[in-house]
Amino acid sequence: MYNQYSAQLAFIDEQRCIGCALCLKACPFDAILGTSQFMHSVIKSYCTGCKLCIQPCPVDCIEMRDNPEYSDTIKADAHKQERKDFANASKQRLQQRKLRLEVRSDVVNAARQQSKASMADKLAELKNLQKKI
Ligand code: SF4
Ligand code: SF4
Repeated sequence: MYNQYSAQLAFIDEQRCIGCALCLKACPFDAILGTSQFMHSVIKSYCTGCKLCIQPCPVDCIEMRDNPEYSDTIKADAHKQERKDFANASKQRLQQRKLRLEVRSDVVNAARQQSKASMADKLAELKNLQKKI
């Protein structure tokens, strides 16, 4: 489903997509779906038309197209609240993404620390064993 608030939306040529996931990492609004090695696609209801996914694509298979659901009437005062709701929902997705990336980075760092600590334990064990031999 398309949103009515972005004049342009990103489109991925799924035949050419190599599944590198670089666009997914670049999209601040979680508007791209896909997993590594598989084709990706744009969630049209979330896309704000920011274009940040275009540049990272190594095979140039993303393009911006006019949104068929968009019309200038959406800019009228009567739609002010709807526009505000879309902007707030986008902002919320941005914050959720930021939080998710922070948590992921904490988990990775904790795992690294743990593996360093267990490596240090193993080395200490080895040194003790060598002393006994
Ligand atoms: S144009 Fe912006 S919001 Fe839309 S898919 Fe690309 S990065 Fe995401
Ligand atoms: S950056 Fe391009 S090739 Fe890579 S997953 Fe996205 S659309 Fe596909």
